[in-house]
Amino acid sequence: MSKAYVDPARCKACELCIAFCPKQAIEMTNHLNAAGYKHVQVIEEKCIGCGICYTVCPDMVFTVTEQAR
Ligand code: SF4
Ligand code: SF4
Repeated sequence: MSKAYVDPARCKACELCIAFCPKQAIEMTNHLNAAGYKHVQVIEEKCIGCGICYTVCPDMVFTVTEQAR
């Protein structure tokens, strides 16, 4: 099953990915990254690995990987 992973250091908290995720699998945290932005996290149980977040994020925060079943 494929899943999306976040690189928190790259996020700028624009929330585009939250708006586009079809499974509401992305949420904003209250943690600040080194640049001073809050960052998102993926709720793994909800993620279907569709890759939309990877496509819409302007800051290359996401990696979507295939995992062995
Ligand atoms: S891969 Fe799809 S389901 Fe998973 S977090 Fe990204 S947009 Fe949401
Ligand atoms: S689209 Fe990218 S930069 Fe914007 S909140 Fe989502 S992960 Fe962060």
